[in-house]
Amino acid sequence: CGIVGVTGRQDAVEVLLHGLEKLEYRGYDSAGIYVNDLQGQDYLIKEQGKIAKLREKITSDVHGDAGIGHTRWATHGVPSEDNAHPHVSENGRFYLVHNGVIGNFAQLKAEYLSDVNFVSATDTEVIVQLVAYFAEKEGLDTLAAFKKVLSVVDHSSSYAFVLMDKTQPNTLFVAKNKSPLLVGVGPEFNVVCSDAMAVLNITHDFIELTDGDVVVITPQEVAIQDKNGEAVTRKHFTVDIDA
Ligand code: GLU
Repeated sequence: CGIVGVTGRQDAVEVLLHGLEKLEYRGYDSAGIYVNDLQGQDYLIKEQGKIAKLREKITSDVHGDAGIGHTRWATHGVPSEDNAHPHVSENGRFYLVHNGVIGNFAQLKAEYLSDVNFVSATDTEVIVQLVAYFAEKEGLDTLAAFKKVLSVVDHSSSYAFVLMDKTQPNTLFVAKNKSPLLVGVGPEFNVVCSDAMAVLNITHDFIELTDGDVVVITPQEVAIQDKNGEAVTRKHFTVDIDA
């Protein structure tokens, strides 16, 4: 139900937790984060219930420069730690948060992923397993595998996705269709979120995304492609309130 992603901040854990707390008003049943310190250490921590419980579970050794966080409002699968996001591919390489609903997840699972062991009952896990499938079976790079997945998701689906690849940990791969998602811009860092509220403590400069956009975000760059794969720029706007 709420998403935050960040790259280029040594305090990524705090950026994510603060953001999730600001998104609490949207309602949720579970929450989680994935962070990577770009030196080979990463952490996936999820909890059913309150963000305060997630915060308690995060010990002081947990750190990272890039990461993704999620508050979940269950649509497929009960509220539980296993069904909480981020979801991870079976090979441990890809991590994904998702708001929305994938209409044809059962067909995609049956068509491509009969050999995969699923740990959750969510529609979302099908997407992250499918990114890994296309990356491995078809030798695609991450952006190409992600775009291939987007091309097989049916048009009734809604999503805000933020994907991370452990082998390219300073990069956020983002896509949006019918679910809210904004990019927040900073000096040497960038963020992505469902609501500007989540990150007003670190930036007031935002970029609006359009349905069908696919975005590759690093600390230095926000590269947007529209639904036809054309590089585009989108309007910046300033949110002049403090939170
Ligand atoms: N459909 C996904 C799930 O049930 C995402 C729900 C959400 O938007 O929070 O896990």
